[in-house]
Amino acid sequence: MAYQAEYIWVDGTEPTPLLRSKTKILADDVTTPPIWGFDGSSTNQAPGDKSDCALHPVFTCPDPIRGGKNILVLCEVMLAQTGAPHPTNTRAACADAAKKFASDEMIFGIEQEYTMMRPDGSPLGFPSNGFPAPQGPYYCGVGTGRVVGRDIIEEHTQACLDAGLLIEGTNAEVMPGQWEFQIGAADALTVSDHLTVARWLLHRIAEDYDVVISLAAKPQKGDWNGAGAHTNFSTKAMRNDTDMKAITAACEAIGSKVMLHVENYGHDIQSRLTGHHETAPWNKFSYGVSNRGASIRIPWTVEKTGRGYAEDRRPNANMDPYIVTRLLIETVCGG
Ligand code: ADP
Ligand code: MN
Ligand code: MN
Ligand code: MN
Repeated sequence: MAYQAEYIWVDGTEPTPLLRSKTKILADDVTTPPIWGFDGSSTNQAPGDKSDCALHPVFTCPDPIRGGKNILVLCEVMLAQTGAPHPTNTRAACADAAKKFASDEMIFGIEQEYTMMRPDGSPLGFPSNGFPAPQGPYYCGVGTGRVVGRDIIEEHTQACLDAGLLIEGTNAEVMPGQWEFQIGAADALTVSDHLTVARWLLHRIAEDYDVVISLAAKPQKGDWNGAGAHTNFSTKAMRNDTDMKAITAACEAIGSKVMLHVENYGHDIQSRLTGHHETAPWNKFSYGVSNRGASIRIPWTVEKTGRGYAEDRRPNANMDPYIVTRLLIETVCGG
């Protein structure tokens, strides 16, 4: 029987791209989803008179929503005329960097935070007039009045597992309506592809609950935590050496390119990285053991054994994982 392939791609919306998708019916005997196309003039990816963009499948997995033989197909966007990567295609450059520095065997784990909103733009868990009780009981909470939206988390986590994505865990966050899931640990392309599909599944599942998933860095002004995408990373040397040297060298290298990283870690990063709410100021780089007020945190277990990984706490929830992992590869491995 014919089956459905949901083609997913990243669009050209600024300042933060959106995910788009459309369905292709594949004949029963088709085992490899073919190259396809779309109207780039409707996604901020092309002018109306040269509107065709090409979709090149790069990652395929079972579709946990439709089930059966149906699949999800993540694509890179290419220029229809030349077949070269479209300017909005950040995955191609990430693939190049990963290949160039493959011998360093860099791997990543990304903690995706997000905020559930009502269609009117107010966070779920906030009363329609005013504010809930201050932050405190919500992080990893249980019980009415402390957590909201758990149905969505349960459904999303199972969907990620059914799709074969490398989801590692979930937790309720510090601000009501805010949650996190983690993807990893894997090479830059795998973790970024899985994260992109996991984001798509989250938006798709939340549709059924009339809930909007926001990746905004600071969805609620005031004394409320922002939403980040802490990016944990390690090279082979960081994992294997036992003298902390590789980890310290990686932090120092990143500290020599502060603005390059911060400017590419997602829109509105200054509103989130204030030096409060478990962040370091966006323009003041620091790293330290167990320090959740540092730009980069080294877990205490890592200091104890002299090896492991480090956590760049600066990327926003709305970051592009292909850009963030590429920059970390280039800065840490490129010296
Ligand atoms: P926390 O909330 O304490 O910052 P989490 O448990 O949410 O930490 O996330 C830890 C992340 O660290 C996971 O995504 C995991 O994949 C990642 N991680 C663990 N070990 C490594 C490693 N050696 N290299 C890269 N990432 C790692
Ligand atoms: Mn976490
Ligand atoms: Mn978190
Ligand atoms: Mn973290």
